[in-house]
Amino acid sequence: MIRHDHRVIDCIVIGAGHNGLVTAAYLARAGHSVLVLEASDRIGGAAISAEVFPGMGARLSKYSYLVSLLPPSIAEDLEISVPLARRRVASYTPDPSDPSRGLLVPSGDADGLAARIEAFTGSAEQAQAWQAFYARTEAVAEVLFPSLTQPLASRDDVKAQLDESDWHDFVERPLGEVLERTFDDDVIRGVVLTDGLIGTFADAHDASLHQNICFLYHVIGQGTGQWDVPVGGMGAITAQLADRVRAAGGEIRTGAEVVAIDDDGTCVHVTVREGDEETTHTASTLAANCAPAVLDRLRGRQSESIEVLDAGAQVKVNMLLSRLPRLRDESVDPRDAFSGTFHINEGYAQLAEAYRAAEAGALPSPLPAEIYCHSLSDPSILSEELRAAGVQTLTLFGLHVPHALFASGQYTREDVLAAVQATLDSVLVEPIADCLMRDANGELCIEINTTSDLERDLRIPTGNIFHTPLSWPWAESEDDVGTWGVETDSPRIVICGSGAARGGGVSGIPGHNAARYLTSVL
Ligand SMILES: Cc1cc2nc3c(=O)[nH]c(=O)nc-3n(C[C@H](O)[C@H](O)[C@H](O)COP(=O)(O)OP(=O)(O)OC[C@H]3O[C@@H](n4cnc5c(N)ncnc54)[C@H](O)[C@@H]3O)c2cc1C
Repeated sequence: MIRHDHRVIDCIVIGAGHNGLVTAAYLARAGHSVLVLEASDRIGGAAISAEVFPGMGARLSKYSYLVSLLPPSIAEDLEISVPLARRRVASYTPDPSDPSRGLLVPSGDADGLAARIEAFTGSAEQAQAWQAFYARTEAVAEVLFPSLTQPLASRDDVKAQLDESDWHDFVERPLGEVLERTFDDDVIRGVVLTDGLIGTFADAHDASLHQNICFLYHVIGQGTGQWDVPVGGMGAITAQLADRVRAAGGEIRTGAEVVAIDDDGTCVHVTVREGDEETTHTASTLAANCAPAVLDRLRGRQSESIEVLDAGAQVKVNMLLSRLPRLRDESVDPRDAFSGTFHINEGYAQLAEAYRAAEAGALPSPLPAEIYCHSLSDPSILSEELRAAGVQTLTLFGLHVPHALFASGQYTREDVLAAVQATLDSVLVEPIADCLMRDANGELCIEINTTSDLERDLRIPTGNIFHTPLSWPWAESEDDVGTWGVETDSPRIVICGSGAARGGGVSGIPGHNAARYLTSVL
């Protein structure tokens, strides 16, 4: 039997991911009644801290781990403090053809950077090219980042604000063209390209330009493209957001899975399953933090099937290490190498080859991956005992591992584990297995999250970390100009999560934009 709640709530939010919480916090603080329904037993969605290895004393950012796109204005509006630790090193990349040498890119030290690039490539020109290239992305960022919390501008308006050559190279032509024209070095080309491939299955020359869109979101955050470590882990951000919702009178229910939505033309009726009970709540508006494909299903609509290129294509691995491993490159201190984004087997040619292999249905070998050690920048995620023992965390994000490889049953978790260990070992003097801690049951502290795991645990179809492919940060059609990019075909229903225009990443932007739309109709 389905029970009926006879209140009419101002807004029901489906999902307590960080964006759902942002929408709920804005609305509750504006005096609206809000009910957040979260299917899983914890809040935060992909932005959580968790004791991934129970009883070990480390709280890891289980999924997302770095912050760049969260506008300070949202933090100020909601009065949350988001302490971010700047990493001393931006990145370190061993040369795939000779891992006993590598390129270390310091953070915020232009002279040091130039010297490092010159030493690595043997060319002062490459260092100048790097600096000139990132001066261009900063110019783009200055225009685009502040626009993300405004109604969508037209493509022509944005084009008019950007330098003509920047528009051509970053928006109109495949990213690979500008990279090949600007940089001679394969390692540098690869390092720069990775920003176009995180959570995006594409080649540098892909006609879809998905790699260009992904690249833009990775270089515009805060107007600089800087990625920082949230102190206390991602969960520290979402916990504050949940506090703001509750403090303003909003209600958050976990273990509450929405199973059906009915829009009667005046109100929205939302059926939620909690344990064995089903209840229908009525609301004036609905904000869907779930993926758009989930919203379609809940509205009884046939969602368009998700194309291979739009599916998730990554693996996220969490590890606990008794100590940092020793590197083949003896010239670099592992504490420096591991504190930035450490690129492994992400040379430009390797990325192209990995894409080709994955597209043909194979798990790339070697697996392109980037790793980083959160606990070096923020030891607060470790217990005192672990800190004293010199324990470190390690996070790995592997590229070009499309969902189809698992959905077809062709590859298993063991295959991924072997690929992850092999790629790590290719740059280490000692096997990574020697540095992994063991839990109380004697199991190695390594957790693999494939796209299938994300699909199950985060309810993201195909495990696409952005719910849908990222979209250009402006209106893609004339009809969308001046909208918030969150609207659907019902004036009462909005998308408030990653699947909205300008969603994707830990940003709160679609959550903010949905709240702006909803306050205008409530
Ligand atoms: C492995 C991984 C690594 C990432 N790394 C980074 C990073 O370092 N930096 C960065 O900026 N971004 C990163 N991202 C992307 C970023 O985390 C996401 O884009 C962002 O967190 C999405 O937030 P959201 O609130 O829109 O949605 P989600 O976090 O996906 O939350 C949606 C919520 O809706 C709930 N839900 C779904 N269906 C229902 C239903 N029927 N009923 C009730 N509840 C439902 C889900 O349980 C979930 O809690 C990463 C993502 C992943 C998965």
